[in-house]
Amino acid sequence: MPEKAKFYHALQAHVAQCDLCHHFCKIRDGRYGFCRTRVNRGGKLFTLNYGHPAAIGTDPVEKKPLYHFLPGSLTFSLGTYGCNFRCDNCQNWEISQKSGHDRQPPFRTAVSVVQAALARGCPSISFTYNEPTIFAEYALDIMKPARSAGLKNIWVSNGYMSDYCLDTVAPLLDAVNIDLKSMDDAFYRRTCSALQRPVLQNLKRLARSDIHLEITTLLLPGLSDSPEMLRRLADFIAVELGPETPWHLSSFVPWISWKSHDIPATTAEGTETAHAIGKKAGLAYVYDQHHHTSTLCPKCGTTIVERHRYTTIRHDKAGSCPGCGYPIVTQR
Ligand code: SF4
Ligand code: SF4
Repeated sequence: MPEKAKFYHALQAHVAQCDLCHHFCKIRDGRYGFCRTRVNRGGKLFTLNYGHPAAIGTDPVEKKPLYHFLPGSLTFSLGTYGCNFRCDNCQNWEISQKSGHDRQPPFRTAVSVVQAALARGCPSISFTYNEPTIFAEYALDIMKPARSAGLKNIWVSNGYMSDYCLDTVAPLLDAVNIDLKSMDDAFYRRTCSALQRPVLQNLKRLARSDIHLEITTLLLPGLSDSPEMLRRLADFIAVELGPETPWHLSSFVPWISWKSHDIPATTAEGTETAHAIGKKAGLAYVYDQHHHTSTLCPKCGTTIVERHRYTTIRHDKAGSCPGCGYPIVTQR
């Protein structure tokens, strides 16, 4: 049975407006929202993915990626069907671009998710794989008992949530990784079917909050890897979010993407260029998946957290550099 949605208001003639993300879909009776997970039945909005995680796993927190939040720990991870973006390059398209109407995964109560995380020894739960905004009611019902049980809550998100959604979720949120896909609105419109401005606004809000923030940019050759655009993006992070905001450069793999099979894979040279741009912009922590994986102290250069793929060796002292005491890791 679909669960009644919380984030919407009624308009005229059985039309409901969803207030979860910046699409603000106006949904007529019997129709679905853009993310395919919200349906209007008789003027009321229902969520179809409440309690039905389509993917569950236990991942290193570095895989989210979060490098400065509980490094070396496991995070219990889940996502549902659907997404409010339609990124041609999506690598999780098998769940993000499906609705799950035909093949609804088994129901899992929020409390059973928290119990599973505790049983697997995870200090955190990550809402990931697809966009958590579109299953916010379920996420919130998990985040409350998770917080009570001493677990941290992580969202891996495209940053397109409405103010209403972010206001509601923020008090329970400990860390986020937000995709900043490009500085060009045209890229967001063309590749993701979304607008860029709400993402920038939410990033600024998150940077001002006490929620731990890291950023990811996928380097799509020819689309989101021009040095000029990356310079603007790195400057935005440095100036608006803070130079100590970690920036992750992610490599594109065409053969697992949804539609972008004609775009070549990201090259080592392209990644190195982007890394140099980030450092030149003054960013303290710029990572990629190959060469720049360890955390060095920005003050004295000591290696604080060593990473070899998902193996993590911590040399920090309670989150600080053992050489000079500079604070590096969020311990909360
Ligand atoms: S979550 Fe976003 S895309 Fe989905 S129905 Fe609501 S406003 Fe539309
Ligand atoms: S890349 Fe992320 S935001 Fe884009 S469709 Fe896939 S899950 Fe959604």
